Amino acid sequence: MGHAGMPPALAAAIEALGTLPGIGPKSAMRLALHLLQRSQDEARALARMLEELHEKVGFCDQCGAFAEGSCCSICADERRDGGLICVVEQPVDVLIMERGGGFAGRYHVLHGRLSPIDGMMPESLRIGTLDRRIEQGARELILATSATVDGEATAHYLARRFHGRVPRISRIARGVPEGGELEYLDEYTLQRAIDQRVVWE
Ligand SMILES: [Zn+2]
Repeated sequence: MGHAGMPPALAAAIEALGTLPGIGPKSAMRLALHLLQRSQDEARALARMLEELHEKVGFCDQCGAFAEGSCCSICADERRDGGLICVVEQPVDVLIMERGGGFAGRYHVLHGRLSPIDGMMPESLRIGTLDRRIEQGARELILATSATVDGEATAHYLARRFHGRVPRISRIARGVPEGGELEYLDEYTLQRAIDQRVVWE
């Protein structure tokens, strides 16, 4: 779509908005014009919020989930069961699990999954910090990596690594469709997958 007759700043805003996922050229133009019609204060507030997103949101030192500061709200919550650790691949997986609201334990985010082809080896993942948490004592490790080939390989690797070091290791149930990323599950399916988890023998 051409930007003829358009002030360069407006064209630039349309270009930038158009790089966002799910935003085509027409939507980008509609959004830019909408922002232009609103007050400058409102546009500024939005700009500041986007700036703070990167300044403020990082990862929890302990579990690797999204956090403001060094500790996330889940690790800081004394009511959560620290003996139950659910291992997931990405920080977004924690948000999805929490949407269901039925899990009272804590999480550990690997920040990826094993994939030798892509150079993702155990050292590339947040496994060292999981070692330390296991040493501090845990009753159960729930492996909630994706149902992809690499996700399964990651679960197998972790089950072998922690075998005998934690009383119980389990894998979320296969209600999860083959090749399924947690992202595409509704909270009901995910809750069922956790409730019906299978103990790893
Ligand atoms: Zn945390």
